[in-house]
Amino acid sequence: MPAGNSPLPFPLPIRADRAVETHAVVESVEPESIGWAIGLLPGDEIYTINGSRPEDVIDYRFLIAEEEVELEIAPGGDRDCLRRITVEKEVDETLGVMFTADVFDGIRICNNNCDFCFVYQNPRKMRRSVYIKDDDYRLSFLHGDFVTLTNLTDAHFRRITELNLSPLYVSIHATDLKARVEMLRNPKGALLWEHLARLWEHGIQIHGQVVLCPGMNDGPILDRTVEEMAARYPDCLSLAIVPVGLTGHRRGLPDLGQVSPAQASAILDQVQGWQRRFRRQIGARFVYASDEMYLLAGRPFPPASHYEAEGQYENGVGLAAHFQAEWRRAERRLPERVPIPRRVMVVTGTLAAPVLAPVVDRLNQVEGLEVELVPVINEYFGPSVTVAGLLTGQDIRDQCRARRRPDTLLLPDVTLRGDRFLDDLTLTDLSRELATEVRVAPHRAGSLVEGVLDRKGCKADS
Ligand code: SF4
Repeated sequence: MPAGNSPLPFPLPIRADRAVETHAVVESVEPESIGWAIGLLPGDEIYTINGSRPEDVIDYRFLIAEEEVELEIAPGGDRDCLRRITVEKEVDETLGVMFTADVFDGIRICNNNCDFCFVYQNPRKMRRSVYIKDDDYRLSFLHGDFVTLTNLTDAHFRRITELNLSPLYVSIHATDLKARVEMLRNPKGALLWEHLARLWEHGIQIHGQVVLCPGMNDGPILDRTVEEMAARYPDCLSLAIVPVGLTGHRRGLPDLGQVSPAQASAILDQVQGWQRRFRRQIGARFVYASDEMYLLAGRPFPPASHYEAEGQYENGVGLAAHFQAEWRRAERRLPERVPIPRRVMVVTGTLAAPVLAPVVDRLNQVEGLEVELVPVINEYFGPSVTVAGLLTGQDIRDQCRARRRPDTLLLPDVTLRGDRFLDDLTLTDLSRELATEVRVAPHRAGSLVEGVLDRKGCKADS
């Protein structure tokens, strides 16, 4: 995208590679931990550990793995009042603190300009964090975020290999380099094989993904990508194929097509063929379609055992199958009745509704339970955005308010960042405005059942 023609509502705040002061700020301290014993408090900054400034939690974990550590602490972040403490401990003991961020020197920003980038498709006036195009190898290692490798410097590659940050999660998109460059809108996309070789020669494995954009990287380009990546198994442990997500806010962006149900069906047939062959040739299924592809095609999910590589779980690959397997176990332990009648609303995105509908039907057979499934339509980004993770607080509020008030509203945790929705509404705001208890549960059948039955396991706000 040419400079000066950015669809962002303001210039990007941080450059792709820059020196930023590190701030290892404590968010919480576990009771009875070492941090608690030495008087660490939320807001304190761990300035140095044995004389070194930690850049991120990876550094922190390495630096703290000593029997004796000397800490310099800035109380409340005030570096003029540094406090020095020597701690003796077991090598594998940590301080028992959580930090306000996993990277202490700011998220590394991507230098690509994909036409399908969600950051460009956000409505205006959302909180700043949703406009940040992160492409940070540390978050890739820590959380499975996908990175393109195009913003890595020699120093980054050195650090990755020295600290053995494996596996990383890499957006491959296409091994046809012309197609990759066009998709990323970055000439550095053509360095894919050089970048991968720098990881692989040091034993750093990857999980790959292809965001499938019809007309850009499907057809023969996809065939080639899958074949060439499978040839590098187990350097590349798995490859996920995920349909592109487009919002209703694409002003000033080129037209892109969505994956149609017929295309999704054809991709699933192809994936099945590849998997059969790869199992014979390399001993692994290797390539997987995301859950969304099955939902788009209207096909049942394969069983949980189909997913050999767990690394793509957070990428929406195999999540539904694991949910269904867990539900089959949880269902066997359901009571016949509940002691106190309860009305519960289960909120989700329209995508996952078909997965949850039979679960809710069965829960309604428990005497005293009344469970309503609310597939919230994403009015904020547009109805084509169907995943729960991109629902806003106001859509949830408006669409739940139109229904009979429940005793408890159950929300998937992916709708929140901390205690806030993407549009900055808080969990407390939602609970107050709906005048009901709101509980947050991970996308797991066990947590859903606990929440519906009013057992432990969910975070509540009322
Ligand atoms: S690599 Fe990701 S963050 Fe960067 S422009 Fe493309 S989609 Fe956006």
